[in-house]
Amino acid sequence: MNIKADEVASLKALDKEHVWHHITPTAAAKAGVPLFVRGEGLQLWDSEGKEYLDASSGGVWVTNVGYGRREIADAVHEQLCALNYFSGAAATKPGALFADALIDKMPGMSRVYYSSSGSEANEKAFKMVRQIAAKHYGGKKHKILFRERDYHGTTITALSASGQNERREQFGPFTPGFVEFPHCLEYRNQYGNDVDYGVRAAEAMEEVILREGADTVGAVILEPITAGGGIILPPQGYWEKIREICDKYNVLLIIDEVVCGLGRTGAWFGYQHYGIKPDMVTMAKGVASGYAPISCTVTTEKVYELLSEAEGDHLGFFRDISTFGGCTSAPAAALKNMEILERENLIENSARMGERLLAGFETLKAKHPIIGDVRGKGLFCGIEMVADRETREPAHESLSAAVAARCKELGLLIGRTNRSIAGYNNVLNFAPALVITEAQVDRIIEVLDQAFSEVCA
Ligand code: PLP
Repeated sequence: MNIKADEVASLKALDKEHVWHHITPTAAAKAGVPLFVRGEGLQLWDSEGKEYLDASSGGVWVTNVGYGRREIADAVHEQLCALNYFSGAAATKPGALFADALIDKMPGMSRVYYSSSGSEANEKAFKMVRQIAAKHYGGKKHKILFRERDYHGTTITALSASGQNERREQFGPFTPGFVEFPHCLEYRNQYGNDVDYGVRAAEAMEEVILREGADTVGAVILEPITAGGGIILPPQGYWEKIREICDKYNVLLIIDEVVCGLGRTGAWFGYQHYGIKPDMVTMAKGVASGYAPISCTVTTEKVYELLSEAEGDHLGFFRDISTFGGCTSAPAAALKNMEILERENLIENSARMGERLLAGFETLKAKHPIIGDVRGKGLFCGIEMVADRETREPAHESLSAAVAARCKELGLLIGRTNRSIAGYNNVLNFAPALVITEAQVDRIIEVLDQAFSEVCA
């Protein structure tokens, strides 16, 4: 849809008057936000004709196949003309085809439960755990453990399972039965240098299981690579130990792939880098790259069987519904999205371009002392800013905000992580669409270099 020049002022005025923007401080909204009118690949244009290189995939790591994919719009159009909706006990063509295509990428997994946001996908996983506890463990094994600095969504229960203070503050009281364990960021090693960090960090989860009582813990939820909490990669040996502990105490392992899924980290799913076998996997953002709202809670057949009725147990199936999980446009978009990822080798491109981006960050680190650490996997990378490289004291949040703001002025959109522990929202994050070219990676480095030079001189 093209916007005529004389419409721009009135649209901006209407937006200012009526739209309550997500996660935008009121002062910033009142100052006015850009009006984006068009996108192509990684490029965005606003109503003034200014061009941006979007290294945030739509602000929150969504547009994996990039903007402007007419073939996804066509697939959605065709499906909507045939049948737009049905929910419950009926099959639809895109629902069946996408579930099959997805399971094909996830050996060991078996069932796909559709809903429409990442938070909802996680809520479904939590409800499955609670119902399994009720059916099989007299309600006892109902607790769900989550990790400091991980985020699992915006609803009160998904927030109850999130380790980010910035998201939680002022929203309590939270849902009971969710218990936090420590993060695993090696750069901020809490255990001293004499330990096998990955194993030690995983044992921190075991300590919480033992403290709570293994017979009360039903599941643990983790991001494969922590996103909004600071681009935290698992240390060596971490995931193997996590799986081992889950098996030891009969605890289900839920992996939240809402951000990492569908190629973001250079594999179909983040957990596949580490050879883990999850019990449940949730996903959303890149599933249809923002062309339709869709999320999935994927489980093993074993989990599905645990929630199937037995004799005399007519309420023993998963009694849950997601109204908009029945929209057929969503799996139609997801199917085309997956086809594009495969046809254009975008998973491989994510791995390759991610390496180039990280190498670029290393050159910036050599030049700018404010950069303490650079890390990432595929096209999901971060720069941690510090006041002092020796002590690793985090740089004040105003500095990462200023770098991001300067980048925006220079036409580059990047993200910043959320505060989990006081002071720790000092990480810039980068998650460009997987179609990024070498020249665009180099442009990101060039703009960042200028922004760091100007802001942190
Ligand atoms: N899980 C992770 C790891 C996320 O980063 C997010 C959102 O950023 C969510 C879940 C929640 O997804 P949604 O905003 O679609 O509810």
